[in-house]
Amino acid sequence: MTLANGRKILMLPGPTTVPDEVLQAMHRPAIDIREGELVEMTDRCLADLKSIFDTTGDTFIYAANGHGAWEAALSNTLSRGDTVLVLQSGAFAMGWGEMAGMLGLNVEVLPGDWRKAVDANALEARLRQDSGHAIKAILTVQIDTASSVINDIPALRAAIDAAGHPALFMVDTIASLACVPFRMDAWGVDLALSGSQKGLMTPPGLSFVAAGARAMKAHATANLRTLYWDWTFRQGEAHYKKYCGTPPVQMIFAFRKALDLLLAEGLDGAHTRHRLLAEAVRACVGVWTKAGALEFNILDPDTRANSVTVVLTPGRDPARLRDFCKDTCGLTIGETIGEIAGTGFRIGHMGHVNAPAVLGALATIELGLSALSIPHGAGGLQAATDHLANALREERAETGSARMSAAAARL
Ligand SMILES: *Cc1c(COP(=O)(O)O)cnc(C)c1O
Repeated sequence: MTLANGRKILMLPGPTTVPDEVLQAMHRPAIDIREGELVEMTDRCLADLKSIFDTTGDTFIYAANGHGAWEAALSNTLSRGDTVLVLQSGAFAMGWGEMAGMLGLNVEVLPGDWRKAVDANALEARLRQDSGHAIKAILTVQIDTASSVINDIPALRAAIDAAGHPALFMVDTIASLACVPFRMDAWGVDLALSGSQKGLMTPPGLSFVAAGARAMKAHATANLRTLYWDWTFRQGEAHYKKYCGTPPVQMIFAFRKALDLLLAEGLDGAHTRHRLLAEAVRACVGVWTKAGALEFNILDPDTRANSVTVVLTPGRDPARLRDFCKDTCGLTIGETIGEIAGTGFRIGHMGHVNAPAVLGALATIELGLSALSIPHGAGGLQAATDHLANALREERAETGSARMSAAAARL
């Protein structure tokens, strides 16, 4: 018996659902890569990336996944033998650090916990010890997709400043850009990077780097530079240089369309949508956890991310639940990875997600918990809809009273 034969719903924390308009935008013949429409499109994408990262720095587009952006960030700014400090909060900053090691950098890890955000005090204390300033860069993620934590980027910057340390501050926003606020310049981030396939609603295959003035200065003397990633080469006049070779034409069409959708909604609108839907997920999961068989991975409610939620199933194999959701219902949710592999599931709620997608996913998981007799508090879905109803009712009341006071002012 199956209920899966309808439109499949993908709720992975990447890659995420690509809007039909974006897929259709790709379905075009190739065009001239040296002049005309494509050249203008590149310029507009690079400019819009600045507003999305909220920076006046330089932006770059790579025909690569997020790992490519990691390599671009390191190779453009650092030299063999430099030390980088990796802030652990799950899997992803650690992966970036492994890459740094293979590039010939010394990698030091500020140990963290899979269930917590990076501790800003521990960062400050470590940097104060480094009086010789051996550490040249600090690598962190804004949202760690493996643990579902959000790190407090301004607090980490404040810790670096309190220690008076000059290291470059580099932030991976692959699972957070366009989902939650990110203000590169205002927050003192020297380099930020992201990927196309999560909050940016584009197929996997493009990644983005934004470099501030201090990163560009470090670039001038970095000796890990290689031609493919090199910012100087990519800032050359000829259009092909911006991609160091043939531009990924149809991917650029897709990305342009996704940017148009995002900018039409407005970044604030996208952030609010992600926040409300994430609150609905957490309201629901919070009720489920009351029967003792399920837990939030992230312990402090204030550091739970708005783009992904990791739920642990202590002592129970989560594969049956994921298989039920997928095979019987047509919903794909993520498995846990890294140190917590096999111990829970991940609900992705980022990018092209709306209320029916999220509520449908929660209802389906709740159905799975019931059908498989996994103990869970009753009424999770109700808590999710109640939360959204309250939030929307308040918002309508606010816009209603704003309209009334505007009307009153006109009288
Ligand atoms: C997905 C992800 C990556 C890796 O991106 P790829 O495109 O798979 O290389 C890196 N960092 C974070 C935070 C991610 O969520």
